[in-house]
Amino acid sequence: MHIGILGGSFDPVHIGHVVIARSISEHLGLDRLLVVPTALHPFKTDGPAASAADRVRMLELAFAGLDGIEIDTTEIRRGGISFTVDTLRDIRSRFPGDKLSLIVGADTVDDFEKWKDHSVLVELADVVVMTRPNEETEKSSARHVVDVPPFDVSATEIRARLESGASVEGLLPPDVLEFIRGRRLYGTGV
Ligand code: ATP
Repeated sequence: MHIGILGGSFDPVHIGHVVIARSISEHLGLDRLLVVPTALHPFKTDGPAASAADRVRMLELAFAGLDGIEIDTTEIRRGGISFTVDTLRDIRSRFPGDKLSLIVGADTVDDFEKWKDHSVLVELADVVVMTRPNEETEKSSARHVVDVPPFDVSATEIRARLESGASVEGLLPPDVLEFIRGRRLYGTGV
């Protein structure tokens, strides 16, 4: 099997994530895509705005019914700072004979050399970099760069829009938006 791994804070998951998950699965011919929400991101100084349980629930709503895409809670169950190398060791032990591709956005890969044990990490999985609007993609640091359909949105922008009451039309899966409003996340319902 060819297994893709897409990590992130998903605070919240947005349409950009859904677009890239589908497009990368198709492009790489993945049998499974594991979507892995972080507990604490190594480089983000503030913790996530939404709880782990709420972020997982939003991922389940966003990816419901999409074949081959699974939410993997290994980092949340482990807790603490989520180092990708630890996650890959865990996934490798569960899927000993399978091909693993770690999928990262072009914004993430800039810091790649600072990731914990990055030389071990590249032995555990192929690193695939997705293009992202407004981000240069350093082809040299990546083994494999994939053009995904440009969708210029970030979770940071969505949190800011929700907080200020600006429209998020078309940026979030409808069920995710309904959940956010119902739980009064990100300053909604104030
Ligand atoms: P934040 O604004 O909080 O940093 P984000 O929108 O970048 O959030 P993450 O949860 O960090 O979302 O994203 C998970 C992965 O998806 C990362 O590898 C990120 O680079 C990638 N990604 C997120 N949004 C896009 C997008 N619009 N186009 C391409 N890649 C994206």
